[in-house]
Amino acid sequence: MRILLLLLGCSVLARSRATSFDISYVNVPADAQVAVQAAADIWSGIVVSAVPIKVQVTWAPLFGTALGITLPNGRRDFPGAPLGQTWYAAALANSIAGNELDPGENDFDVFLDATANWYTGLDGMPGAAQYDLVTITLHEFGHGLGFVGLSKKEGTMGSLGTLQAVDFAPLVTSFPWPDLDTLPSIFDRFLDQQQDGPFALMDNPGIQLGAAMTSNQVYFNGPLAMAGNGGAAPRIFAPSAFALGSSCVHLNESTYPNSNVNELMTPYSSMGHANQWPGPICIAMLQDIGWTIAPDLGIHGTALLAAATIYPDPATDVVHLATPAPLIAPRIRVIDLGGREVVAARSGTETDVASLSAGTYILELRSEGRSVHVPFIKR
Ligand SMILES: [Zn+2]
Repeated sequence: MRILLLLLGCSVLARSRATSFDISYVNVPADAQVAVQAAADIWSGIVVSAVPIKVQVTWAPLFGTALGITLPNGRRDFPGAPLGQTWYAAALANSIAGNELDPGENDFDVFLDATANWYTGLDGMPGAAQYDLVTITLHEFGHGLGFVGLSKKEGTMGSLGTLQAVDFAPLVTSFPWPDLDTLPSIFDRFLDQQQDGPFALMDNPGIQLGAAMTSNQVYFNGPLAMAGNGGAAPRIFAPSAFALGSSCVHLNESTYPNSNVNELMTPYSSMGHANQWPGPICIAMLQDIGWTIAPDLGIHGTALLAAATIYPDPATDVVHLATPAPLIAPRIRVIDLGGREVVAARSGTETDVASLSAGTYILELRSEGRSVHVPFIKR
């Protein structure tokens, strides 16, 4: 009986910590609302926020071939913002600040095409001519959570943060359109053109920035996304013909094609196909831009350990370990090449090696029950 009570206590605790979505619907049919909520429930188990995420979902005919469009609200230079002069999606800003920064406003608006042939079941089994609504909503909510940039290209000039409400007409947001003030989003700050470097260091607006946006060689250089992608920066969709709302805000279609585990945040979706999980690269990218990720899903453990580096090497007095993100309860010790412990285990990521005689040693780092061994030279 005691064990049952403890289990019950755990499950209540877990539920109270899940991120909640507060969704208002405009003209959305009842069966579609169930699918939208199912997509929100998937995200609520991935991103962690103490502040409920407010979303307005509108069912309306969309232009062109768009199945869904998301327009996020944003905040910049709020208390606790990791980077200044940078836009954060409102849901992310709220989660970082730990309180509601935009009371009375939605954090993002999602528009779903009322004319598409939707499959509203939850089992990921759309018919051959149907689009899976859970999949598409999951994608759109990903943009709302901050998988979004502020790229725009007019003629040869590219810019970050000059988008205006009129660019998305006839759609109208439920919140006042912020003056973006020619500033990048936190997502944009990780965009990197293979030869010319980071978008954020280019003249804005500028011709170089415009060329980068259509160079087909744009990567997301966040350290966690790279750690989760075998050390390589994930490739971003940046085709030679700029498409507003599609270019530079998605993973590259051909790199992550249908049925790739990371396909969800690519620009195109196929009929008869479902994918109800964002994939590890998307989750790591959200972690790079500042989201706290549920403990089992973020880049930590093995991937972080594999990315650990030592400095200085050779070392004289103290050895430090650096990882792209904080480890959980790290402990380190030093062993010699014969496996004998020469500096006892201690918590933290640095250790004193001044008393060791010169030679090669191995620093053992443990976190979350895993360990990695990194050799270094003591001078
Ligand atoms: Zn998209």
